[in-house]
Amino acid sequence: MIEIHPNIYHVKVPLMHSPLKELNCYMIRGDKRNLIIDTGFNQPEGEAILLSAIKELNFDLDHTDIFITHMHSDHSGLVCSLKTPKNQAYASKVDGALINALLTEQYWQDFDQRTILMGFPESEILDYTEHPAYMYRLKSHTEFTHIKEGDVISVGDYTFKVVDMAGHTPGQVGLYEETHKLCFCADHILAKITPNIIAWDLKNDHLGIFLTNLRKVKAMEIHHLFSGHRTVIPCHKTRVDELLAHHEVRLGEVLEALKNGSKNVYDTACFMKWDFAGGNFADFPVQQKWFAASEAFAHLQHLLFNGAVTCSEHDGILIYQLS
Ligand SMILES: [Zn+2]
Repeated sequence: MIEIHPNIYHVKVPLMHSPLKELNCYMIRGDKRNLIIDTGFNQPEGEAILLSAIKELNFDLDHTDIFITHMHSDHSGLVCSLKTPKNQAYASKVDGALINALLTEQYWQDFDQRTILMGFPESEILDYTEHPAYMYRLKSHTEFTHIKEGDVISVGDYTFKVVDMAGHTPGQVGLYEETHKLCFCADHILAKITPNIIAWDLKNDHLGIFLTNLRKVKAMEIHHLFSGHRTVIPCHKTRVDELLAHHEVRLGEVLEALKNGSKNVYDTACFMKWDFAGGNFADFPVQQKWFAASEAFAHLQHLLFNGAVTCSEHDGILIYQLS
């Protein structure tokens, strides 16, 4: 545990069996109430680290609120270990509902449905009970206090404003502290890795929302950007430019793939260049294929919303072609 700014502590929560390795949890000491930003997978190893940091800081959980940036289990999984009848667990309305939905059959049936829609062969449909988001989800239904862009959470000398950072998930939120120019951006901006963007539904352009919110954060004055994984990002504007350029390249690859004829999402992903296991989609383990195809799906949907491609459904599978 390191004090990274006066009264703000960085705790690395281990993420077992995950290439992400660790979650960056932030604990902020206040005079009346403390705040903890994100928790970790629901795993005993992470829970032990989290609880020992709380003990070391002498935080009383009844006087400590929890801020969950987004619904992913590596951020929300341990919320039940910190929630008491007297403290608040903050989350956006959308992601708060999704966190509890992780406990329902319906969520995982919809998950399977999306995989089929992408054109995955039946032999490669992921068993969701082996998905980390399922295995390490929160213990039980949690009552969230809903927060939205512009809401203020004061902790000691810090006045945090909630910032809508949707894209990586439909309701991701971050915190901005204007006086000290601090920003907690969760998985909106990460060093070294590009945040995974998927098509959560067909109603919204999730990549478009992500890109808009990237440009919004780029325009903010930030001296310290604290993200959900990996290291502190020295210059957020440079990193945002890199991420924007990355998605431009990806969009170009998708258009290139469709020049060879109409394709479903799975086949489009086969044509794209990936930064994993030699880059050949066909050789990926099923779970990695799901992440890659979901990323291709978000890019195809973005092109659909922009009118560059059209889409039709054949036997329950989406097929895209150039307009
Ligand atoms: Zn995430």
